[in-house]
Amino acid sequence: MTQHGLEQHWDLVVVGAGPAGSAAALGALHQRPGARVLLLDRADFPRDKVCGDGVAPHALDVLETVGVTGLLDDWPVAPRLRISVVGAPGVPVVEEAMSRPAQVVPRAVLDERILRAATDRGAVLRRARVRDVLQDGAGVGVVLSDGELVRARVVVGADGAHSEVRRALGPAAVPPQKRGTTAIAVRAYAPVLPEHDGVQVLAFSTDTDRPSYAWSFPVGDGRANVGFGQLVDSRSSAGQTPTRARLLERLEELLPGTTAGAEQVAGHPLPLSTGRSGVWSVGRVLLAGDAASLVNPVTGEGIYYAVLSGVLAGRAALGGGRYDRMLGEALVGHLRHTDLAARLVRSDRLLHAALRASARDTGVFDDVADIGLARGRLTRRVVTGMGRALLAG
Ligand SMILES: Cc1cc2nc3c(=O)[nH]c(=O)nc-3n(C[C@H](O)[C@H](O)[C@H](O)COP(=O)(O)OP(=O)(O)OC[C@H]3O[C@@H](n4cnc5c(N)ncnc54)[C@H](O)[C@@H]3O)c2cc1C
Repeated sequence: MTQHGLEQHWDLVVVGAGPAGSAAALGALHQRPGARVLLLDRADFPRDKVCGDGVAPHALDVLETVGVTGLLDDWPVAPRLRISVVGAPGVPVVEEAMSRPAQVVPRAVLDERILRAATDRGAVLRRARVRDVLQDGAGVGVVLSDGELVRARVVVGADGAHSEVRRALGPAAVPPQKRGTTAIAVRAYAPVLPEHDGVQVLAFSTDTDRPSYAWSFPVGDGRANVGFGQLVDSRSSAGQTPTRARLLERLEELLPGTTAGAEQVAGHPLPLSTGRSGVWSVGRVLLAGDAASLVNPVTGEGIYYAVLSGVLAGRAALGGGRYDRMLGEALVGHLRHTDLAARLVRSDRLLHAALRASARDTGVFDDVADIGLARGRLTRRVVTGMGRALLAG
């Protein structure tokens, strides 16, 4: 490894300082205060990340376990959630106050706050792009774009959907994302429509390429984060990724008026959790967040999983347990249920039944929201409620 020149040795090198990477640093420093933790990111912070900005409260719960409290106490809450299916007459629009509302926080703010919590506890942040990972009997190291080698006991790859760390491990070690399990979404910021103020709005389409939906999430400053996402349907004959313009058209069709005055329009892929076979570590390299394809296949939420997997990876890196086992215990049951839920919502009848059941029973509504936000399951009351709705026709 010496051919790469200057070497440094860290207890943990984390590639990517988004929610997964900063959480990994926090997990490690909570496990062993004083550990030598380096965070590498190619971007200068604060930085934007294309996202819907919806932050599940469960992500804050995880951060509290590593001593980060009150992170968003000053941030407004959009307490209500509205779910509809556009173009499906007779299917109710469901709107309720969420039992635990998600907050809508632009990522330039959220990621900066989690990162600062990590650097306040002693993590060192360095701007650098990682282009390779080397692992041998002597340990592990990352190679930066200028050829410098940085060595560590453990590396966490938290470098997002296009992870270089994952790529460097090779397709034999980490199987590629399965076909048809990547989504693409466009987001923009636009003046919030009066009828969407204080409400997080999800509008499903009647398309067969579901899960696909448009959203409007009020930021609390007169703007909403608006967007539309769908599967990149590798089954279609066209088989192409829809253009940004087409995704914006779909948003406007489903939520008319939302794109007026839209700024910061950008698109990004989402590697859904249905697309990988649960390979979360290879030797001394652990993958977290989008790099591990931990994105909810129904809603596209990934911040909670990023924070959870990051904290567990950081703890494991400093001797706090086996990463795969801890992450599996925390998530495998939930992931199975979201996989099933993603198949169910492809059926019009079942999606409509879920909405009818949610309209009738706030318990069902809460459980459905929890499947999409964090660690929920298809509970008995969801299944029973949907069964009743189906029987009622
Ligand atoms: C349009 C859209 C809407 C979404 N809406 C929501 C939502 O409302 N709620 C939700 O919970 N989730 C949402 N998601 C998913 C969410 O954005 C991701 O799951 C989340 O950002 C994952 O965090 P991460 O830390 O794993 O990766 P990222 O946030 O992508 O961070 C990765 C970091 O790695 C750095 N990096 C990348 N490559 C390198 C390299 N080679 N060397 C050094 N640094 C590198 C990047 O600069 C970046 O800072 C959405 C995604 C999209 C695309």
